[in-house]
Amino acid sequence: MGQEFSVAIVGGGPAGCTCAYYLQNHFDVTVFDTNSLMFTILKTGGGRCNFSYNEPDFRELVKNYPRGEKFLYSVFSKFSPSDTVDLFNELGIETYTQSDNRMFPKSDSAKEVREKFLKGLNGVKHVKEKVIDIEKSDNGFILKTESSKYFFDKVIFATGGHSGFEMLEKLGIPIVSPKPSLVGYVTEENFGDLAGISLTDVYSEDIKQAGDIIFTHKGVSGPLIYKISSVKAYDEFPYLLSFDLIKDGFSDIQTILDKNSQKLVKTMLSEFLPKHFCDYAAEKLGITDKKCHEINRVKREEISKFVHKFKVKAISTVKDGETVTAGGVDLDYVNPKNMESKVVPNLYFCGEVLNIDGFCGGFNLQNCWSTAYVLSDGLNCK
Ligand SMILES: Cc1cc2nc3c(=O)[nH]c(=O)nc-3n(C[C@H](O)[C@H](O)[C@H](O)COP(=O)(O)OP(=O)(O)OC[C@H]3O[C@@H](n4cnc5c(N)ncnc54)[C@H](O)[C@@H]3O)c2cc1C
Repeated sequence: MGQEFSVAIVGGGPAGCTCAYYLQNHFDVTVFDTNSLMFTILKTGGGRCNFSYNEPDFRELVKNYPRGEKFLYSVFSKFSPSDTVDLFNELGIETYTQSDNRMFPKSDSAKEVREKFLKGLNGVKHVKEKVIDIEKSDNGFILKTESSKYFFDKVIFATGGHSGFEMLEKLGIPIVSPKPSLVGYVTEENFGDLAGISLTDVYSEDIKQAGDIIFTHKGVSGPLIYKISSVKAYDEFPYLLSFDLIKDGFSDIQTILDKNSQKLVKTMLSEFLPKHFCDYAAEKLGITDKKCHEINRVKREEISKFVHKFKVKAISTVKDGETVTAGGVDLDYVNPKNMESKVVPNLYFCGEVLNIDGFCGGFNLQNCWSTAYVLSDGLNCK
């Protein structure tokens, strides 16, 4: 407890601040961030802070991370979602689990989470400067900011998914190229007229899962699209996505047409899909004024294809729209027992700066709490 080592934490988001919390009584801890501490938590979960996902089985939990699955197995065995609840309770934050297993503070307030963390960080120095370079010296590191130079024995990078990679690459740390994830697509098709319309329980042929999609002025978004963007984060654009818009209850189209013979096709379709979308579909299929009994075999096949194999051509992700970054510090060069670099001793990583990212549902913050704890525990026990 003699504070014999000085530790710099670059980045005061959820990962950096959790490290700071656990290290403050053992080391001389300084957090560098131009933002105020825990600022990035404020926008999470639409302001409600979906801080974790209630899944006690690590084998199941890790399946929600397209990158990091194997690495996290040992990390979660040391610090699980229930340990996060204990950490929150220790900080004075009460929590609850929603029916879909997502976890939130009882107050539904990311602001409360931030305030309670800040209260818990009274042994930590905050330097409001951007770190622009890091150099290895004989027995530690020199951190350079725009105005000063500092020396530290140990340095933790918790810079998130958007910056810091060039500095690390200069030090010889292997980086997996960062890509946007949990993000909407810009599409070749113009869905501008449908902007705001959502389709529920749509089945994605690409990831073999169902969910909701929302049309936007630029293309498509929504929970299912976010998940697809995560799974396909490293696929080359453009690519075609295929959706079954009505997986159940629309297989025997002839019977449905017969039953509704005097109705307009678009009216019949609106029993299954939003009216506005059916108007769009009827126009695309050239059957705006057609009644069900007027549909011949060829048109019937076209309708079936439109509904069951709805194609969208993704040409890019929405610029700056990502929730997380895929890629980051290559996990092959990080020790999962203490998050130390295998390339540069005394340099550590936690949170989104690592090549770890999960789906929506609290998985990304859980990565922050868990990797930060394992890192701190490793340092405290050294
Ligand atoms: C809109 C939105 C909503 C989200 N909602 C959720 C949610 O509900 N649940 C969930 O699990 N995840 C959510 N996420 C993802 C989650 O917020 C991130 O995964 C998490 O914040 C990553 O934490 P971090 O500490 O690793 O990095 P960050 O939160 O990105 O923090 C990094 C910090 O480092 C600082 N920094 C960077 N470079 C430097 C430098 N050179 N010098 C000094 N400081 C530096 C930055 O200013 C920043 O404060 C959401 C993300 C977004 C964008």
